[in-house]
This record gives sequence, structure tokens and C-alpha cells, in this order.
Amino acid sequence: MAIPIPHRQLFIDGEWKEPNKKRIPVINPANETVIGDIPAATAEDVELAVEAARRAFYRNGGREWARASGATRAKYLRSIASKIRERTSELAKLEAIDSGKPLDETAWDLDDVASCFEYYADLAESLDEKQRAPVSVPLKTFKSYVIKEPIGVVGLITPWNYPLLMATWKVAPALAAGCTAVLKPSELASVTCLELGEVCKEVKLPPGVLNIITGLGSEAGAPLASNPLVDKIAFTGSTETGRKIMTAAAQLTKPISLELGGKSPLLVFDDVEIEKAVEWTIFGCFWTNGQICSATSRLLLQESFAKEFLERLVAWVKNIKVSDPLEEGCRLGPVVSEGQYEKMKKFISTARSEGATILSGGSRPKHLEKGYFIEPTIISDVSTSMQIWREEVFGPVLCVKTFRTEEEAIELANDSQYGLAGAVISKDLERCNRISEGIQAGIIWINCSQPCFCQAPWGGTKRSGFGRELGEWGFENYLSVKQVTEYVSDDQWGWYSSPSKL
Ligand code: NAD
Repeated sequence: MAIPIPHRQLFIDGEWKEPNKKRIPVINPANETVIGDIPAATAEDVELAVEAARRAFYRNGGREWARASGATRAKYLRSIASKIRERTSELAKLEAIDSGKPLDETAWDLDDVASCFEYYADLAESLDEKQRAPVSVPLKTFKSYVIKEPIGVVGLITPWNYPLLMATWKVAPALAAGCTAVLKPSELASVTCLELGEVCKEVKLPPGVLNIITGLGSEAGAPLASNPLVDKIAFTGSTETGRKIMTAAAQLTKPISLELGGKSPLLVFDDVEIEKAVEWTIFGCFWTNGQICSATSRLLLQESFAKEFLERLVAWVKNIKVSDPLEEGCRLGPVVSEGQYEKMKKFISTARSEGATILSGGSRPKHLEKGYFIEPTIISDVSTSMQIWREEVFGPVLCVKTFRTEEEAIELANDSQYGLAGAVISKDLERCNRISEGIQAGIIWINCSQPCFCQAPWGGTKRSGFGRELGEWGFENYLSVKQVTEYVSDDQWGWYSSPSKL
């Protein structure tokens, strides 16, 4: 059953900031009804949030947060994780009606959110042991070591496809490192991110350590990216917005990390067990309603068994339950918004007009009259110059091409502006390893597609961005390394000649 959307304000300096007159409607994409609203921050609100984060960073000489022990910060992160676990079922429902993702998926995401906070709590603690790590230098007269310090106030801008999880991938390591933060989630799905504010209040996180401002990209995201008091921007979203963030950051020589779009290949060879490979193909593209940056949405099939494989693939896809995300067994909900829905339809009609064949799906499911639903769609007879093959669709659309040899498959896989992920399914592990090395991407899956663990690095190459999230790499994103070198000899340094004393 749907639950009411809590009425929230902006979360600034540990408080819900009243009043905020301007609000953005929250639309349930499964039935197109307005189910609540969220505040729309302005540039002034962004400034207040940044100032609060700055005060929190420096309060008590930084001893309250930035220079507190990692163990102190870890305690807060664990409390946040535990509060989220207590509210998992409610938050999962809120996220399902806000984003359109099937409830089984949002429940899984919420569990990942809590695990991610717990993981970075461990890393915060380990930071205490790693401080003053010695650096070996060739001169005995010197002793060197490094101190890892939080970068400062960070601006975190996130998308809607995994609303709270994408935010957590940034918030958890940033806070663990001792940064203070301003989070700007997507205006299309901010509800659970605002609930994180309530969680912060409940665990008595020091005011200003995490501020959450919702609103439009142009009105809230852009002023955050260009604020001179923000020391770093970590962004996840489209390549187009990433470019704008990069331009804004360049004016201030501000460091950034960018997790952008993708159009990832999945290579399937004819030695596989077809049923298993078909299921991973579907999971790789239709999970999260197809709205996954790393979706393996370009299927490359070995020609010798393509016909047989596609028959089974179409049969499996027709068996996917497309429904309201709260319905039991739902495996594909609506795309997030009317804008996305129209974009999907345009992609599919352009593919048709360019001569591609719609093997399955391609329209609204007949049993669903309302909502932004698109059938899981498979498109074949695609050429490498077609828009559907080259551009990120970010919806439930898979396109297929065939290849004859391993070399041809790698060449087709790499013929893309993107380089986020890639996958290969084959019984020949040596071949899989060769392909892992051959594909230009930041993430490779062998005999599967999409599994993601908070311990392993995440991020892309080419126009999919730079920098890595998750694991120790994601932690380093928010740390600055300071070199300390001490002269330890009793002798005069002796570079200049000593003037004789009078
Ligand atoms: P988007 O770029 O439209 O928006 C992302 C965020 O940026 C939102 O919070 C938005 O309000 C904000 N924004 C928009 N314009 C801005 C501006 N000028 N300045 C500052 N902020 C601005 O992306 P989206 O539609 O929310 O998300 C989908 C995209 O995200 C896809 O391209 C997908 O591949 C990508 N994505 C990438 C990853 C990854 O890990 N690489 C993960 C999830 C999503």
C-alpha cells in the first residue's frame, strides 16, 4: 500500500529550514498523480547551506568533526545506518512511489545504503591508524610522513535512478573522511534523501555537517557548483550536466569527480548455457527499469547462435511482470517522469524510422492505461551509426548486433564515446580475461552483469567521467594528503657559507 510523502523543508544547519514557499510537485510515475511536494531551493538557500557546512567544518578548531577522531565520526555513521535499517520498509516504499522502481529493488537498495554507511564507518576508524604514515626518503637527515585530511566542504550532486543510494555513495565517504557536505539530490526523486535529514536529526549529527537542499539543477545545483566556498564537487548524472559542472569548477580551479553516462556492451559467446546467459542479459539492461548508468544495453551476440538466443531472450522478456512498483512480483515499473517517457518513445520511433527492427516491446503495455510505462524493448537490425546504438537511452531498451570473432566483438564494444562498464559471458575463462583487458571501461563483469559491492571501485573512462567512487578509492576522493618533512640532524644544513661573526 502507498504511504504519504512526509512534508519536509530544506535541511540546513541541523534544522528544517522554514519557510520555503516555492515547492516542486512529487508525481507518482505509476499513475501520474501528485502525491506530495518537495522544497525548491534558491541560490540564497544554497549559500546558507554552504555557510552552515563551513561553520561545521571549522567549529571548535575543527575538533567537533573535521579533526575529530575517525572513531568519533564512525559512531555517527553507524547510528545513521541503524536508523535506516529500522525504517527500511517505509523508506523502500517511499522510494518506489517516488521513482517508479519495483519495491523489491528499492528494499535491496536501502539495505545497500545502510551497508555503505557501515563500511565507511570502518574506514573512518582505520584512518586513525594510518595517520602519520612514514614515507621512506633517501636522506637520513630527514624524516617524512603523510597526514590525511578532509578536503573541506563538499558539494554532492546526485541523480534520480538510485536516489538515496547514489547520495550515500558520496555522503558516507565524505563524512567518514571528516568533510562537511551539502547534498543536492535530483528534483525528480528527492523524497528519501530528505528523510536522511530526519535521520541526521535523530542521531544528533552535529549541525551543518550534512545539509540537504532539494530543487532544480539550474536553481540549486548550478549555484552549488559555482560557490567559491565549496572545496570540491562530486557529481553523478548525465555527461551533458557533467560538462557544465566541469566548466563551473574550472573558473575556481575546484577539484571535481564525475560519474557520468554510459552505453555499455555485453558480449555473449556461443559456448554459454543459453538460459543463464539470457537472464543476465535481461538483468543487465532491464533492472532499475533500464535506468542504470552501467546498463549493458548494447548486446553483442556471436552470430553462430544468435537466432536461438534471441528466441529465448524474447520469450523471457515477455514474461517480465510490468506493473505498479508496489505490486508483488513487479520486475519493471514506469520510467521516472513524463519527460523520460517521451524521450524513450522518441528513441524508439527514431530507431524504427532509421530501419531497425523492434523484436519485442516498443510501446506502452496494453494492460496499463496510466503511468509512464514502456514495455521492455529489444531492437535488432541496428547499425553502428544509429542513434539507438550510440546514445544513452536510460530506459528499458536493449539493442542487438552480431559478431563473428573475438576481435570483431572487442572492436564493436570499444566503438563508443562512453567507457563506464562492459560484460562478457562465455565458458572460456581465458577469453573472458582477454576481453576484460581489451574493453575500455572502468568496470567489467564476467559471466554476469551489474553486481556492485561497496568495497570495489566504481567509475568510468572516456566520456563516462573520472575519479572512482566506493571502496578505498571513494574514500580518497574526500581526503587530501599532506606531506610533513622534518630535519632530524644536529648538524648545520651547510648549503650557504657562514659569515664570520663580528
Ligand atoms: P542530470 O545530469 O539531469 O541531473 C543530475 C543532477 O544534476 C540532478 O540533481 C540535477 O538537478 C543536477 N543538475 C542539473 N543541471 C545542473 C547544473 N547546471 N548544475 C548543477 N547541477 C545540475 O542526470 P539525471 O537525469 O538525474 O540522471 C541520469 C544520468 O545520470 C544518466 O546519464 C546516467 O548514466 C547518469 N548516472 C551515472 C552514474 C554513474 O555512476 N556513472 C550513476 C547513476 C546515474
